[in-house]
Amino acid sequence: MLRRESEEANPSGHARDGTLGGHTSWAPAWAPAGGFTRARGGKFTGVDEVWDLVIVGGGPAGSAAALRAKQLRPQARVLLLDRADFPRDKACGDGIAAHGRDELALLGVPDLIADYRPTRRLSVISPGGAHVCATVARPHHVVPRVVFDARLVDAARARGVEVRRHRVRTLAVHPGHVVLDGTVTARAVVAADGANSAVRRLIGVAPAPDRHTAIAVRGYADLPADDDVQLIAMQKEGWPAYAWSFPIGDGTANVGFGMLLPRLRATGLPGREVLHGRLAALLPHLPARDLRAHHLPLSPGRPVPGAGRVMLAGDAAGLVNPLTGEGIYYALLSGRLAGAAAVQAAGDPLPAYRRALGKALGRHLRTTDVLARAAQAPGFIDAAIGTAARRKEVFDLLVDVGLGAGTVPLGLGCAVAGRWLLNGLRGRGRGG
Ligand SMILES: Cc1cc2nc3c(=O)[nH]c(=O)nc-3n(C[C@H](O)[C@H](O)[C@H](O)COP(=O)(O)OP(=O)(O)OC[C@H]3O[C@@H](n4cnc5c(N)ncnc54)[C@H](O)[C@@H]3O)c2cc1C
Repeated sequence: MLRRESEEANPSGHARDGTLGGHTSWAPAWAPAGGFTRARGGKFTGVDEVWDLVIVGGGPAGSAAALRAKQLRPQARVLLLDRADFPRDKACGDGIAAHGRDELALLGVPDLIADYRPTRRLSVISPGGAHVCATVARPHHVVPRVVFDARLVDAARARGVEVRRHRVRTLAVHPGHVVLDGTVTARAVVAADGANSAVRRLIGVAPAPDRHTAIAVRGYADLPADDDVQLIAMQKEGWPAYAWSFPIGDGTANVGFGMLLPRLRATGLPGREVLHGRLAALLPHLPARDLRAHHLPLSPGRPVPGAGRVMLAGDAAGLVNPLTGEGIYYALLSGRLAGAAAVQAAGDPLPAYRRALGKALGRHLRTTDVLARAAQAPGFIDAAIGTAARRKEVFDLLVDVGLGAGTVPLGLGCAVAGRWLLNGLRGRGRGG
């Protein structure tokens, strides 16, 4: 259990032993507001008064930042704040792509989800009914977030990260440091506080516009334990929209339905009615319980990585694949890069983080941005899935673009566009 610092601390914010949260690095109760002593010019007088890195949010992005910072600099003082106690649930499809497992290995926790059954088959039905079912190049995993996130936080704690329950509400930027809620002082901050990031708002970075926001509901359903096919069933009505069934391997599956926010609003119906209704209509054989919905900030192609000493990671940076809604891999990757920048470029981490993020995902994000625009026309996706059904290397590439950091070679882009055009002409011919 995390400590309830914000709710239970006394009004001064200091624990009874004269330290904040009992951590020896904090200034005593007689320190000035802000919990630290300063020399003239705003410089700190002692090294023990400030956290090297404070991370807001203990989802995959936040835990990855914490793990990486301690991996690279074990003596770094790293504080992870989350408003929730762990284990905590999170509305998600629970699908962890092979790329996500690569990230776990880089973070030094390669076996974190090794006890979960790998999923090798993926079946996709396009809005117009094109169908592909094939074995993926590398298996995926489905791990309930209530388990996955708690394991990551535990791993960070085991590496020496201080973990506290605390909801961040305010942020003050000073030369050389940042103060959170008037009491927590950091040389660098990683904002990993999710889709509705308070920190992003506090540093003045705009949230994803509605046209780049999706909303999805997830639940759990029973299905035979030997069913190991991940299913994605796209829907023409209100496109882009799709339902999924991701078997966990224990006789249950994570099932859900998601669509773009403007398309949901255009129905004029209550969101719950639309999301729950379409999920039930698309997967009638899998009645879902424990339904829970959340927004997804889809990547705009060139995300803003932060401001000053605050780096945005994961959903807080709008790093969700606009074609699939996948975000765990990007959360782990961006968190890892932000954690590295915080300790390796401590003087000015943001430029280092921006560069690393651009190198790792720049081309991919621009690719998915272009593809997401093209995919507004369901015929484009029909053509892409139709091509993938005939050519395994195209199937593999689509998986890499939808769930990893893949890009599309020009030749393939032209082949899909050509097929799209041809389908359109055939359709018109039949119509006339
Ligand atoms: C229905 C649905 C299905 C999805 N399915 C998939 C899928 O199958 N695969 C996939 O890869 N992605 C999926 N995604 C996307 C994925 O869930 C996110 O991209 C991922 O959770 C992002 O991780 P994160 O660490 O950035 O944020 P989060 O996981 O949202 O974690 C943010 C953390 O910050 C904490 N927090 C928030 N505000 C504060 C505050 N002010 N102070 C302190 N703490 C705070 C929260 O308690 C939370 O623990 C899905 C999303 C939805 C909504």
